[in-house]
Amino acid sequence: LLMAYEPAKRLAKLQVQMERAVVNARMIYEILDMESPQRDRRGATELQVGEARIEFRGVKFAYGSNEPVLKGIDFVAEGGKTTALVGPSGAGKSTVITLVPRFYDPAEGEILIDGQNIASVTKASLRRHIAYVSQQPYLFEGTIRDNIRYGRPDATNAEIEEAARLAYAHDFILAQPMGYDTPVGENGVTLSGGQRQRLSIARALVRNAPILLLDEATSALDTESEAAVQKALDEAMTGRTVIVIAHRLSTIIKADKIIVMQSGTIAEEGTHQSLAQRPNGLYARLNQLQPGSGNNEFF
Ligand code: ADP
Ligand code: MG
Repeated sequence: LLMAYEPAKRLAKLQVQMERAVVNARMIYEILDMESPQRDRRGATELQVGEARIEFRGVKFAYGSNEPVLKGIDFVAEGGKTTALVGPSGAGKSTVITLVPRFYDPAEGEILIDGQNIASVTKASLRRHIAYVSQQPYLFEGTIRDNIRYGRPDATNAEIEEAARLAYAHDFILAQPMGYDTPVGENGVTLSGGQRQRLSIARALVRNAPILLLDEATSALDTESEAAVQKALDEAMTGRTVIVIAHRLSTIIKADKIIVMQSGTIAEEGTHQSLAQRPNGLYARLNQLQPGSGNNEFF
């Protein structure tokens, strides 16, 4: 009975994990190489990436038969630059980001990368060029090394450590009981929020993709973690086309362009300077509501 029990227990646990993953679909989006149920279009080509300029043209979207969530989105994320999406909860920011790796397809309009409609390229070639860091980094059963390697299955140990160093994760990893071979997840060591985020950033860095999609965490980290995560993110953002869902004023101010979303539309776009000065602008109003020092949260 005991012998039969063990595998059954393991199976049940896997089931629970999978169900949780489905519920929290955005977490598993970090694993961009996972099989996708949608097939490629006949005659789909390989995405050719140069500067990695992303353009949304008249994009409308609804989840199933629900009300429209995106009601006509037009913007350009310039190659090698950082575009910040800001706006109240429910505005559609995360939805915009999930359309880029084609976890969903727009109902209308199109998304182009370097002039190629992403609906006409293979998903594998599209996703190879994208790294994604979610709001709540997901750690899988397995070692720390495994969890970074999910970013690129053929990464060498040296590449994994290099990514971990750049993500300011190497030192805390070495401090774990078995270093890179320390198990994490349900049966493993417990890592702090900041440590999990740095592992997730290392996962994105090892992928070395020209496009980085970043859903900035809203949960407060301790000051030390916060600083390390910020440095890791700065490293990950350098030289890439970044679309970041930004909550911290520090991230927003640094962005090359800010897109202010409201109820599935783009209300305003510009730099922090230009938007903050706009009389009666949404951004200017929200910027004024921003509490003083100590709280760096914008939305
Ligand atoms: P934001 O990131 O700006 O908070 P989201 O893109 O997450 O906004 O959500 C926009 C709207 O879409 C919200 O009303 C939200 O409830 C809805 N929504 C988000 N994800 C789903 C989903 N998987 N199924 C149905 N509705 C969803
Ligand atoms: Mg969101």
